[in-house]
Amino acid sequence: MLHLTVLSPHRDDAAFSLSIGLSRWVKLGTPMKIVNFFTESEYAPYALPMQAAVIPALRAREDKQALRSISPLIRMESLHLLDAPLRLHIGLDAICSTETARLQNRDETTWLASQIRRYFSRGVVMAPLGLGNHIDHLVVNHAAVTCATNQRLAFYEDLPYATWTSECTLRQKVSDLENQTRTYLIPRIIRGRSVVIADKLRVVSRYKSQITREEGKAISYFARRYHGGERIWVPKYSKAWMAFTQ
Ligand SMILES: [Zn+2]
Repeated sequence: MLHLTVLSPHRDDAAFSLSIGLSRWVKLGTPMKIVNFFTESEYAPYALPMQAAVIPALRAREDKQALRSISPLIRMESLHLLDAPLRLHIGLDAICSTETARLQNRDETTWLASQIRRYFSRGVVMAPLGLGNHIDHLVVNHAAVTCATNQRLAFYEDLPYATWTSECTLRQKVSDLENQTRTYLIPRIIRGRSVVIADKLRVVSRYKSQITREEGKAISYFARRYHGGERIWVPKYSKAWMAFTQ
C-alpha cells in the first residue's frame, strides 16, 4: 500500500490543517508519517514563563498528544531545524513579510529537497500551499515542488492562515503551483464520518502553548466552509491520489 507523508513546517501545522483528513486516512489503513521540519523554536506565546531551551520539548509533547489522539498509528519524524526567528535572526513581525524570502539560504532549501525526495518513492506527499506567506511554510512548499515526481505531490490549506486568506488569493497560489509543477490541480474535500468539527477542536486544543481557545475554534470551525471537511489540492490525473480522495 502507498504511504502518505505530510510535510509539516512546524509542530502543529499537520494537525491544524488536516486532522479530519488524517483521521479519515488512518481508518483506510494508510501508513502515514508526519514530518516536522522547523522544530527548534522559542515560540510559545501562551505557555507559562519558561526557559527557551525547554520550548521544543514542550511543543513536541503537545504534538505527540494531539496526533496520538487522532491515532497512535501515525508516525512522526523531526528534522530538528531552526525556525525562522532563530535561523534568520528576524522578529515575529517579519516572518510573513515578502521581503524575508530574500534572507533564505538557497543551499538549505536544496538540502531540504534532497530530504523530501525519498518520500515520493514510497508513496504520495502533501505539502502546505504556503498561505499566509510564513517563510518556513514557503521553504517547505518550494523544496517539495522542486523534487516532486510522478504527480504525487498534493497541497493542503495552511491553518490558521487560510481563515483570513481570500479565495481569490488562494486560487492564485494554486495557479502558480500548477505552473511550477506543470500539473493540473483540482480541489477535493475530505470529510469525516461523525462529529468532525468537535473532534477537530479537541485535537487542536492540545496545542495550548500556541493558540488560544478562540483561535482553536477559528481553526476548527473553518471546516464548516466545506460542510465538515478539509479541502486539499491534488494532481488531476494522479492514480496514486485517487485512492485517498474517493
Ligand atoms: Zn506553521
